[in-house]
Amino acid sequence: MQEGIHPKYGKAVVRCACGETFETGSTKQDLHVEICSQCHPFFTGKQKLVDAGGRVDKFKKKYGIK
Ligand SMILES: [Zn+2]
Repeated sequence: MQEGIHPKYGKAVVRCACGETFETGSTKQDLHVEICSQCHPFFTGKQKLVDAGGRVDKFKKKYGIK
């Protein structure tokens, strides 16, 4: 790999909309993302399951299902 023809690749600080910050490798020094591993539904499946459970309970109460 020749030097000088590639952008500088170093550490970048990524800031998420949820307030989480983490370091990653990038050609940019500062990155802003709206979703990260801390708030992405894929990684917060636990919370999502809890929410879904609450909705099921409401649904059951609404229709009198026990
Ligand atoms: Zn986030």
